[in-house]
Amino acid sequence: MTDHAKPNAPGLDSFWMPFTANRQFKAAPRMLAGAEGMYYTSVDGRTVLDGTAGLWCVNAGHGRRQISAAVEKQLMTLDFAPTFQMGHPIAFEFAERLAEIAPGEGENKLDRIFFTGSGSESVDTALKIAIAYQRSIGQGTRTRLIGRERGYHGVGFGGISVGGLVNNRRVFPQIPADHLRHTFDLERNAYVKGQPDYGMELADDLERLVALHGAETIAACIVEPVAGSTGVLPPPKGYLERLRAICSKHGILLIFDEVITGFGRLGSPFAANYFNITPDLITTAKGITNGSIPMGAVFAARKVHDALMHGPDGQIELFHGYTYSGHPTACAAGIATMDIYRDESLLTRATEVQDAWHEAIHSLKGLPHIIDIRTIGLIAGIELSPRNGEVGKRAYDVFVDCFEKGLLIRVTGDIIALSPPLIIEKSQISDIVSILGDALKRAA
Ligand code: PMP
Repeated sequence: MTDHAKPNAPGLDSFWMPFTANRQFKAAPRMLAGAEGMYYTSVDGRTVLDGTAGLWCVNAGHGRRQISAAVEKQLMTLDFAPTFQMGHPIAFEFAERLAEIAPGEGENKLDRIFFTGSGSESVDTALKIAIAYQRSIGQGTRTRLIGRERGYHGVGFGGISVGGLVNNRRVFPQIPADHLRHTFDLERNAYVKGQPDYGMELADDLERLVALHGAETIAACIVEPVAGSTGVLPPPKGYLERLRAICSKHGILLIFDEVITGFGRLGSPFAANYFNITPDLITTAKGITNGSIPMGAVFAARKVHDALMHGPDGQIELFHGYTYSGHPTACAAGIATMDIYRDESLLTRATEVQDAWHEAIHSLKGLPHIIDIRTIGLIAGIELSPRNGEVGKRAYDVFVDCFEKGLLIRVTGDIIALSPPLIIEKSQISDIVSILGDALKRAA
């Protein structure tokens, strides 16, 4: 446990922590002080294996000199410059680099890049682009947005509106949105490696919403190709294909939220490549700069972008943008990140270790309280039964125990989510399973 009473340790009152039980945390804080490669160091000097790539973002591992050198150089060359009616070369350069790995072909190629500062901003941006696009092609009545139960799309008003996380929605007003049912048949699909067999017909729920509201009212449907933050739910075989077909049939834009799956998590640049489906918009963040500098980007299909590029001379085509859109320092970090991904083949690295990953994680089956294990790419979800009906308590105890024994995991409800940096070695996979397995036994 962290000794927070050390001389010069900061007080804990001022920082209002996000997505944290503040009072509980501050009574027994867990603090990280440094990071290198696959490991964090805690303030009390312990080494902690990073089982979550930070928050699904540090794909190339921690402490990358190439990124810090690029950031320092950029800060001293051009620290900040606006991108409203002004430009700087590095933003264009980074957009081009991203366009090189964008999925799709021809007018469906997603190589038009809108920069944001985070995943939440990317989601709100994509939803607004979808509505603006529909309007620009004479479909101004299409303003309705469709998300999915158990979807997580960040915390902007757009994101919580299409998101299906009850706790995120309960307190706040939302813009009207509808949700596809997401009752994945966990029992029939239990303990599956990769995509489950059952449930592609769940995509037909989109037809229900089309029949209910009329296609002419619906602008876009947004899904995470693999739901991450709500408990690691890979799509059943055929599900995303069917969703794509229904969207195309009814003129609805399909948005993949790839804030987690983007940049190699599944062993391909994007989940769109992995599942071989081309959405109309992709939202990204996190791995875009290896988590080093806050940044996000929306990848838009050319046809979506081009439809908005008209109107009177001098007119701003999309009335939207952020002070930090295309921030030079973030772009420098992003370019250095893409260099590392390319030079170390990290965007496909998950394919090399995923068999070992699946085997190792599924070997935990049979330990007390585990009711399901789901793995895809370099992601794993291990679902526990709630303790005495109290959701999240058991998983939280496992999380605290793991941290004390030198492993960072993430829990969401009673589901343990794992997503290590893509540089992970097989021995470190074994370490994850061994520390986690012991913690699960103790939790019994
Ligand atoms: N979309 C998805 C799928 C996410 O997983 C997240 C963050 N975990 C977000 C959006 C929001 O990203 P951010 O926290 O950077 O706003």
